[in-house]
Amino acid sequence: ILRQPMLALNDIHVYYGNIAAVKGVSIEVNQGEIVTLVGSNGAGKSTTLRTISGLLKPRKGSVTFLGRRIDGVSAHDIVGLGIAQSPEGRRIFPKMSVAENLDLGAFLRKDKAEIAADKERMLELFPRLRERIGQKAGTMSGGEQQMLAVARALMARPKLLLLDEPSMGLAPVLVDLIFDTIKTIREQGTTVLVVEQNALAALSIADRAYVLESGSLKMAGSAAELRQDDAIVKAYLGG
Ligand code: ATP
Repeated sequence: ILRQPMLALNDIHVYYGNIAAVKGVSIEVNQGEIVTLVGSNGAGKSTTLRTISGLLKPRKGSVTFLGRRIDGVSAHDIVGLGIAQSPEGRRIFPKMSVAENLDLGAFLRKDKAEIAADKERMLELFPRLRERIGQKAGTMSGGEQQMLAVARALMARPKLLLLDEPSMGLAPVLVDLIFDTIKTIREQGTTVLVVEQNALAALSIADRAYVLESGSLKMAGSAAELRQDDAIVKAYLGG
């Protein structure tokens, strides 16, 4: 029996006006994996994630999730199909409390008891958020806002979690905490696709990795393999 990938991008091309930002990228994510997409500034990592979550439409190529074409499906409906994105730059709702932000993550769900249980689970995963449950999100530190962004995405109870630069701007201790938490999230059954400039940190928790440069794939392989290849580390991973 052929096991189909949970997510498959097949030769996607994505433009901003006349500018090609992603030029023929193919990526697969299998259920239960942590996959990372690494590359320098402007490589097309965020554009790829935004295409999966339905914020951008590929001009060419397809995106398939659980056997169904989703390129062209609205971002709202894609959340309903089981994909949630924690955005780059921690776009939480700054005037709302931590609790309200978490509730908004579950906006498509109706299962009140389950939502409450998941909220409790998030506060166990991120004890710092419990201490700040009534605080306006915009007044929290960068690291705390990052945790809230991840927790809010998880409140959608996604099958696939997309993370855009979760370590951005964080102190080293918090980077470790975020990456440890991503491992825990996977152990609890969520598949993860994480975009990172901090390539070596991402490779340390990922099963497989794709290296993007100028909108094209330069390399793909197991994270362990890529990490051990000095030439690749020097050329693409900031090592
Ligand atoms: P970074 O880590 O710097 O965010 P990235 O790998 O995520 O980089 P993208 O943000 O996907 O890269 O950008 C890919 C290319 O598309 C870049 O050349 C960028 O300038 C361009 N681009 C991104 N957003 C827009 C936009 N809204 N309008 C025009 N060009 C854009």
